[in-house]
Amino acid sequence: MYNVKPLLLDSQFPQIYRGRLTTLQMNLGYLCNLSCTHCHVNAGPKRTELMSRATMEIALQFAKQQHISQLDVTGGSPEMNPEFRWLIKAAKAQGLQVIDRCNPTILVESGYEWAAEFLAEHQVAVIASLPCYLESNVDAQRGKGVFAASIKALQKLNDLGYGKTDSGLVLNLVFNPQGASLPPPQQQLEVDYRQYLHDQFDIQFNQLFALVNMPIQRFGAVLFANGKQQDNPRAVFDGYLQLLKDTYQAQNLDKVMCKSLVSVDWQGFVYDCDFNQMLALPLAGGTPKHLRDLLDVNFAATKISVAEHCFGCTAGQGSSCAGALT
Ligand code: SF4
Ligand code: SF4
Repeated sequence: MYNVKPLLLDSQFPQIYRGRLTTLQMNLGYLCNLSCTHCHVNAGPKRTELMSRATMEIALQFAKQQHISQLDVTGGSPEMNPEFRWLIKAAKAQGLQVIDRCNPTILVESGYEWAAEFLAEHQVAVIASLPCYLESNVDAQRGKGVFAASIKALQKLNDLGYGKTDSGLVLNLVFNPQGASLPPPQQQLEVDYRQYLHDQFDIQFNQLFALVNMPIQRFGAVLFANGKQQDNPRAVFDGYLQLLKDTYQAQNLDKVMCKSLVSVDWQGFVYDCDFNQMLALPLAGGTPKHLRDLLDVNFAATKISVAEHCFGCTAGQGSSCAGALT
């Protein structure tokens, strides 16, 4: 896979500094039952990297000492980590709010039938990826049959109360574009999703988050592969980066997610966000740092490592783990 990192490091993106830390994003590993073309993690069924319980214990200690209120669990498919249930129970016992970034097909995958009920029982908020409400687009991006499995899983979540008014069980959906373009306006897209999914499948959800595709890892390599077809390997990649820069909106800068979170990888190393983790871009100041060495560090006002991909967070309506910024 083509490594785009060297093309991103020389950047004019403004220097930003962290505010108050509220969220720890934990990547439980790169194992996933899918291999989507837009995946910025390069996750898939053959990946073996998984966070251990010992690292999870340090992460919970870190959350306690840093007065963090929210655990944002991601992967791969986090439910495929054998210690997933242990982590969620321990986090809830510690009083943390927990978000599961879920590829919904895992909830109907053989061997994971327990997952939806478990999430409901522990009041875990679910953020489920559904990159379009049309079957052909989802299957093109994620694989044949993924749309049908996702619909089945969302119906299962609805049956448990997810996405229903006053149930307290939050179900948010995630859209991302099919290719090298920005997402359409989130508000209108949410209206379209809501109507189509309700009319066709009787599915309800709370909010839709529209995310920008990051030009890193598998998606970065796909942009390069598309350029090769046009005899200029960099053309599509450079064109997409230019689009992100041309649509830069300064008002998004104060709201980018790295202002209030840090991201930890499966081995316990800490990064400014999940994207920096995937680029192995350490916290500002040099070498990779482990959770155990950061328990007492004051993160407020610390420098954030920025590079060209950061324009993906500030383009247009902006993009964060909770969708548009403006
Ligand atoms: S985008 Fe999500 S569901 Fe798709 S391969 Fe990556 S981690 Fe798995
Ligand atoms: S890519 Fe990461 S570090 Fe850069 S602005 Fe976005 S959240 Fe912050």
